Amino acid sequence: VFQLSVPLNFLGSVYRELRQSLLDMETLFNLQKVNVAIKEKPNAPPLLLNKGGEIKFENVSFGYRPDRPILQNLNLTIPAGKKVAIVGPSGCGKSTILRLLFRFYDVQDGRITIDGQDIRDVQVESLRKAIGVVPQDTPLFNDTIEHNIRYGNINASTAEVETAARRARISTTIESLPDGYKTMVGERGMMISGGEKQRLAVSRLILKDPPLLFFDEATSALDTHTEQTLLQNINSIIREKARTSVFVAHRLRTIYDSDVIIVLKDGKVAEQGTHEKLVDRDGIYSELWSTQEMLFTEDGVEGGKGEGG
Ligand code: ATP
Repeated sequence: VFQLSVPLNFLGSVYRELRQSLLDMETLFNLQKVNVAIKEKPNAPPLLLNKGGEIKFENVSFGYRPDRPILQNLNLTIPAGKKVAIVGPSGCGKSTILRLLFRFYDVQDGRITIDGQDIRDVQVESLRKAIGVVPQDTPLFNDTIEHNIRYGNINASTAEVETAARRARISTTIESLPDGYKTMVGERGMMISGGEKQRLAVSRLILKDPPLLFFDEATSALDTHTEQTLLQNINSIIREKARTSVFVAHRLRTIYDSDVIIVLKDGKVAEQGTHEKLVDRDGIYSELWSTQEMLFTEDGVEGGKGEGG
């Protein structure tokens, strides 16, 4: 029996690790869409987060094709431990910033640093491990809800999985299912909504607990009430742990409380500051804000039905 159980345990852990790397790969491909090889420097040291996770883009220029620049001499700072929002018209390069940070592509000019280290000088695996993302569309595995959440941290206990689900405002929904956390999801399992998928992705991220967090339109499929309560929970987690976090968003109501709001336009930073400052400035942000506020009031979407508790 002993002889048999050792290789089985071993296989179990290999299997879990394989699933973890498959998940990472899927997330990567989702963000990446096109596979471009980047090269790691020989003997590159791991990324050292010794200043709390400050991200800097210094004179960064980048385009997917030489004839079409996306970012041009972009300078931006995401201060350590702060909540930063990146807003701007569709296609202005918000997700590109995330792809560059993950080093799916290298910049064509300038540099990107994390705590002072050029990301081209550090071990790629350590860089990607440091960043957690809730992408626009979350990959789910043909597996139980519990396992899908646990991909965030395969060593998490059942209690930790449930706490993460509660903080991501999805626990009540899960518990109402006949099989609860054992419900199968994915292509061959139960169909779940876009908003439920997003909340599973947030649970995963809460379990992973990475030093740098990215939310790419992470709550766009939720109704206003659920979105607001989820954002409050996310806020309390990132504030409590002083995590550097970046929110890419179209709906300004989801990010107006950020420490810094960066408005991108034509590959550059057009405006940046706090909500109050930007509203006073009478620029792109204040115009967007007043248009969205008007729609919001007209719709009367306040008080939508969401997950309680
Ligand atoms: P949205 O708000 O709609 O998500 P975005 O600001 O995040 O947009 P990006 O996804 O960063 O925009 O894309 C910036 C530009 O680069 C777009 O014009 C897009 O079509 C183009 N682009 C994105 N990915 C690729 C790619 N792999 N190859 C070529 N062009 C690309």
